[in-house]
Order: sequence, then C-alpha cells, then structure tokens
Amino acid sequence: MTKLTEHFTLEEFTKSTVASRLKIDNSVPTELMPNIKLTAAKLELVRQALGKPIIITSGYRCPALNARVGGVTTSAHTQGLAVDFHSSFGTPKEICQRLIEAGVQFDKLIQEHNQWVHIGFSPSKNRQIVLTAVKNGGKTVYLNDLV
Ligand SMILES: [Zn+2]
Repeated sequence: MTKLTEHFTLEEFTKSTVASRLKIDNSVPTELMPNIKLTAAKLELVRQALGKPIIITSGYRCPALNARVGGVTTSAHTQGLAVDFHSSFGTPKEICQRLIEAGVQFDKLIQEHNQWVHIGFSPSKNRQIVLTAVKNGGKTVYLNDLV
C-alpha cells in the first residue's frame, strides 16, 4: 500500500474491476502523480466535511480503461483529477448538498443517477460547477444544479 494522505492510498485510485478483468495496466504515470496527490489532499477535505469515510468506486483511469468504461476522452479521471465515490453519510444528493454547504472547493461536482458522486478538481482554478446526471432515453444528460 502506498499512502498518499492520512486516509487515502494510491491503490484506492487505481483499483478497477474492469481493468483487472481486461488485464489493463491502470497504474498512474509518474507525471500524473502530482495530480493524484492533489486529489487525495482535496478528498481529505471532502471526508472532513462529511464526517464519514468515502468509498472511491473509480479514481484514476488510464486512456484504455476510460475508453472501455465509456468515459469522455477529456475526462478528469484520465488526469487523476476526479473520483467517483459514495459514503454512508447519505444519498448522493445529500452528499453534494453537504459539500456545497461546507464550502468545499471543487471544479465539478456531479450527482450521478442517484448512485454515486463525481467530484473533480483543478490544479489552477476550481469552477464550482454543480450538475445532476440522469438517463434520458438510454443517454446520460447533465442538468444544471442539483435536481
Ligand atoms: Zn466520474
């Protein structure tokens, strides 16, 4: 285990059932390690705001893995700057509301399908964009704000 911060390890960012099944090497390239460390540091603030552990379901995605899971090529996951997570704190919507209320800085916060939360960070300027992802005719659409 490679510890990044008090509560997060590198393995939590790279672990992927899809990657292991397809034998995709999802290890983080050295040049992206600063991004991963930044994300881990920001996630400590998320954890603190929730007062509960968070469970990362998808962190870093190498381009091959990202393509397999249908992620957009510009996805912050491929830069090590975003994670999908859930927490026993509450529903994805409740988690988002709490993070906004607590003044947590993020670039993008997405309540996804009432199943998980996507949070992305920027090394330069965090835009505080809040979206809700819903399915519409089998396609994912993004609505402004929390719905
Ligand atoms: Zn995501």
